[in-house]
Amino acid sequence: MILKFLILGLLVYLFIVLLYSSLKRKGSNTDPSQGESMVLDPHCKSYVPKNEAYRSGGHYFCSEECARAYAAQQV
Ligand SMILES: [Zn+2]
Repeated sequence: MILKFLILGLLVYLFIVLLYSSLKRKGSNTDPSQGESMVLDPHCKSYVPKNEAYRSGGHYFCSEECARAYAAQQV
């Protein structure tokens, strides 16, 4: 009886540990501070991958529209 509970408890524990470690690994992959370098769009305050960003006036933007809108504000 007790042994059954011990085995079940151990299985549940192992499952939780495996689940937690896989979640942790996934989380570090999507961390914007790691891996591919991200740049901040100063207009809409969103992060964009540097290789996909639109560059204008020393700033990086998510789109040409944001670059134009930002430039219009800097009078
Ligand atoms: Zn933007």
